[in-house]
Amino acid sequence: MGVRQWRYETGTLLVVLLMGVLFPDPARARMAEAGRDFLLVGAPTDEPTPHRGCTPAMLAGPREQVEVPAPPGGWSGQPQALDVFNVFAGEVRVQHGDREICGNMHDARTRDSRFRAGIGLVAVPAAGSHEPFLVSWQAPLKARWVPTLRLGAPSPVQQNDTARLLVRAACIAVAIALALSALMAYLTTRDRSFLVYIGATFVMVVWQAILGGLSGYPEPWLPVGERGAWWLLALTAATQALVLPALWRLNGGDRLLPRSRPAQQGVLWGLMGLAALVPWLRWETLALVAQGLQLSFILGCLLSLAAGMRAWLRGDCWALAGLAALVPLLVMITADASSAEWLLEYRVEALQLSVTWLLMMAAYALNQRLGRLRQQRDELRQLAETDGLTGLPNRRAGLQQLARHLERVDRERGPLVIGFLDIDLFKDINDRHGHAVGDQVLVAVARALRTAVRSEDEVVRMGGEEFLLLMPGMPREAASARLDRLRQRIIEAGQALQVPGLEVTASIGLAQWRPGEDDLAALLRRADHAMYVAKRAGRNRVFDGEELDPSVPE
Ligand code: GH3
Ligand code: MG
Ligand code: MG
Repeated sequence: MGVRQWRYETGTLLVVLLMGVLFPDPARARMAEAGRDFLLVGAPTDEPTPHRGCTPAMLAGPREQVEVPAPPGGWSGQPQALDVFNVFAGEVRVQHGDREICGNMHDARTRDSRFRAGIGLVAVPAAGSHEPFLVSWQAPLKARWVPTLRLGAPSPVQQNDTARLLVRAACIAVAIALALSALMAYLTTRDRSFLVYIGATFVMVVWQAILGGLSGYPEPWLPVGERGAWWLLALTAATQALVLPALWRLNGGDRLLPRSRPAQQGVLWGLMGLAALVPWLRWETLALVAQGLQLSFILGCLLSLAAGMRAWLRGDCWALAGLAALVPLLVMITADASSAEWLLEYRVEALQLSVTWLLMMAAYALNQRLGRLRQQRDELRQLAETDGLTGLPNRRAGLQQLARHLERVDRERGPLVIGFLDIDLFKDINDRHGHAVGDQVLVAVARALRTAVRSEDEVVRMGGEEFLLLMPGMPREAASARLDRLRQRIIEAGQALQVPGLEVTASIGLAQWRPGEDDLAALLRRADHAMYVAKRAGRNRVFDGEELDPSVPE
């Protein structure tokens, strides 16, 4: 094994070295050809800047117009940046003098601008001029989605804008990473709840991409266009359909009220149905639906909070993940109620961070659940494979172990000797001393065998008063001597029970695996047969079945 691995590593290294010799740095070669020691990529262009002008169609419909006035003494003559964000529907137009820019959240914005999370314009008003910035946007869909304007020196305004974009992109990246890790978990466990998680994460990623305007990067990759508000509302309903039942379950609602299942299904399918309906709604109805969704979300969070608190007070520590998931959502609901300025300004980021946190908590809870299921499965398997009286592996587990040993012995070509042990006249022990003493004898024999064998040996209770011993790697003569010592130990174990008149002895048959010509059943048959020969020869002895001519009948 080791040698083969070493060969692979050396081979890989040689291939890499050879590639280096055959293909010396292609970029350097190109630079040398052009006589430069730097790299120039791209090509000169005669295309005009893809500045998207405003068209009357874009500016149609009811609009809010505002003026951002110059300071009382007029502009200083320094460049001014104006960035507009939190406008989720329709076009934003920013004007100053003859400079004008139009854009929306979903069209990669104004591709010439230096703003990425909002729609921005940099202008250099003449010193002392009082010319205001003119801004207009479509009426916002939700009362609490307050359009926000940031005015200042270009670089801090752009830094703020870049930071927003990074947070938005990072949240999406984390969600994708969580979904990929859930996919790995699904592939290894085939637990369907991971598939549900992946589906829900996918919906939330698309929702976040549209909410944060990333659906427009680097080129618009979702057909959102002018219909941003419809997309957002439909996805908000779909996200809530998944988030509300998930929050309820995370908070132990299922365990608290097992009869809430139909209600959860109702919420799920009701909201999914609403999501499917949204694209056909008129603009005027959208605001109503948005308001309703907001209310249902607050209600859902409060119900989950109540369930989580109740479960926690009852000592259900699994509900803690649910309460943790609720914290940022509750902070947002409270901040919303008090119109906190940070929330008005950073609503998209706050929403995305809360959803990411929720996804993390859900992943944590799923993995916890999986751990519990595995533990239960291991306990059940342990129970199914262990003999209740002696604690030894039972017949089923013993035969599996024997099959595994046989495979290994065939691979590694070592000897494998088994011993078949039967307690002598055990029926008499039961009859004379009672079943309770019989049981004590079985336990004492099992313990004696267990403590006297090597760690790599196995002792199995095959049933009744019969035991199987597996002694891999031990030569036959040594194994035979070992079995005889075990026979001695059994006598001592019987004496140690100090039951007057009790004598415990055992007969043991030995058989050795014959590679190539044997199978498991034949091996067991030979050992069993050898044990009967030992019985017939007077009991309390070891008989080596390999000394028998296999053709001699029993
Ligand atoms: P031999 O020397 O020929 O093996 O005689 P034996 O009496 O040991 O043989 P037999 O197979 O007739 O008897 C086995 C007895 O073991 C019969 C059954 O009642 C008893 N037995 C099987 N399982 C248990 C158990 O879990 N506890 C007790 N106390 N007795 C058991
Ligand atoms: Mg028996
Ligand atoms: Mg017996």
